[in-house]
Amino acid sequence: MTPPSFVTDTTIGLYIHIPFCESLCPYCNFFKHRHDPTSDIRSQLVQAIQQELIAYQTRYPDIVIQSIYFGGGTPSTLLPEQWLKLLNQVQSAWPLATTCELTIEMDPLHVTPDWLAALEKQGPMRVSMGAQSSDAAVLKHLGRRHTWPDVVAAVERIRSLSTVSIGLDLMFGMPQLTPDRLAGVLKDYEQLGIDHVSTYGLTVEPGTPFYKTQTTRSNDAMADDYDQIFNALTMAGFDWYERSAFAKPGHASIHNQGYWQFRPYLGVGPSAHSFFQGQRFRNISHFQSYCQSPVRPVPMRSIDYAARFEEWLMVGLRTREGVSVIQAHQWFSVDLNRSPTVYTLTQSGLLSQKQDRLVATYAGRHVLDTVVEQILLEGLSDLNP
Ligand code: SF4
Repeated sequence: MTPPSFVTDTTIGLYIHIPFCESLCPYCNFFKHRHDPTSDIRSQLVQAIQQELIAYQTRYPDIVIQSIYFGGGTPSTLLPEQWLKLLNQVQSAWPLATTCELTIEMDPLHVTPDWLAALEKQGPMRVSMGAQSSDAAVLKHLGRRHTWPDVVAAVERIRSLSTVSIGLDLMFGMPQLTPDRLAGVLKDYEQLGIDHVSTYGLTVEPGTPFYKTQTTRSNDAMADDYDQIFNALTMAGFDWYERSAFAKPGHASIHNQGYWQFRPYLGVGPSAHSFFQGQRFRNISHFQSYCQSPVRPVPMRSIDYAARFEEWLMVGLRTREGVSVIQAHQWFSVDLNRSPTVYTLTQSGLLSQKQDRLVATYAGRHVLDTVVEQILLEGLSDLNP
């Protein structure tokens, strides 16, 4: 069997993790590190990431970069010149694809003239801001530092650079967010004229401060919020392209689509994940240890066949494009066309098939865990051609 492209492809996404945050949000379970502008932790991190990039450049000189994504944490805690230094290093290490996309996550309170000048130097790029809501009570509940007027001001400043595509995060599932208040938030987002919205349902994760004090809302309540968001954003001219991602035409994220389409990526920085040559691995989730030794052997995880198929099916069915029946056959030796469960799910309106693409319908996406579970329960060996 020909190895799948996620094993052989050397055109990749590059993720750079900047873990610093000005304050730590009580719901967040990402790897993060409190930012201290009086210490030299930023330069320590930049030096460590530079070492890691050099090691990858030596090891994989033939890579082509399809997308560069600075995520966190909060990448804009770096000084603009530190960000440019990392970016220049990537650009001189590997060729960039002609369509290479650049993204940075920014705190609305960091959109200073220095940062604007640094963004402007890059030409077309994306800025994503963790706005989360326009509702003051919700922002307070989430422990965010910014207010909605801060977000509006940041968007207006960035918009002065006509080449930057602007996206905001939108969180739902908080107890204060009644349908009326959510409608108000959606109106505010629409009026801001942004290009992209990423939606997140609040989950209460073990190990976070919220875990001790909050409960997750019911699936039905979360689904109601999602329906309201979906309807408002699509009415406002956003196209959904993954269950959580809505973009104005031409503004879908190439980097994030790479994750959903099973394309390879390398992650640098503490705790960054990679999926390269068919293996998954993750850098150490400890700031000082990473900075002391950024190039260290990390455990490689070759995902077994069944787990890989499950992941491919789950992430693919969340997207508008769905999954390719031919790819299922070529990559996993699974013939979805012969699956009685797929047939039943299609008859019951949870899946639909158009030529090569198998997609989850709106109703199917609401119960995707169950849809995927049922297909897997059938047993891969029964489906193998
Ligand atoms: S949600 Fe974002 S800003 Fe808040 S602690 Fe987590 S990574 Fe930092």
